[in-house]
Amino acid sequence: MGKLFVVSGPAGTGKGTVVKELIARGVAELSISATTRAPRGQEKNGIEYHFLQREEFEKLISEDGFLEYAEYCGNYYGSPKKPIDEWISQGKNVILEIEVQGYQKIKEKRPDCVGIFIMPPSLEELEKRLRGRNTETEEQIQKRLKRAGEEIPLSKLYDYVVVNDTVEKCADEIEKIFDNI
Ligand code: ADP
Ligand code: 5GP
Repeated sequence: MGKLFVVSGPAGTGKGTVVKELIARGVAELSISATTRAPRGQEKNGIEYHFLQREEFEKLISEDGFLEYAEYCGNYYGSPKKPIDEWISQGKNVILEIEVQGYQKIKEKRPDCVGIFIMPPSLEELEKRLRGRNTETEEQIQKRLKRAGEEIPLSKLYDYVVVNDTVEKCADEIEKIFDNI
């Protein structure tokens, strides 16, 4: 059986960038989430996310199609159950890049999942990265920074906390965690 790894961290900390590096290294499969938020920048349906209307998302909830789902800054986000279960039963490791409420739900259902919280080097650097990405409005940035303040204390619920200083060092550290489990 493969293992389930959950990666979380405040918006702008660089989780997406680090996870992309880990996937390029071939250490795991990446679960593509569904969301009701609009595509950002160059995002494409079926690549970064399955972009759904609220009604479509709610239909999937009623069909028990998600391993977990949560609301974050006014939108639904959820992890489709089927591909995750298939990969795990094929002996493949799977990474879910999700926020803290989703992690808490999964940890209850699957206590053997491994939680990794990616921390920014500082709050100043977090804001700099979030703004530097240039994909959100000022209102969305403010909401996400407020959520960051609520999420960081919940890092204590995770099995590992890793600082994203440089992408390479952070990915090396996470790869070591994968190797030792
Ligand atoms: P998240 O997925 O956590 O919201 P992203 O992966 O989108 O964050 O990264 C936010 C911004 O920070 C992007 O512009 C990305 O290129 C940049 N970034 C990511 N990791 C680092 C790093 N270690 N050092 C400097 N910039 C980074
Ligand atoms: P973003 O809009 O920046 O892509 O993602 C916002 C937050 O939602 C991030 O913390 C991201 O990790 C989280 N997220 C993405 N997919 C899922 C999911 O399937 N479930 C949950 N609970 N959170 C998710």
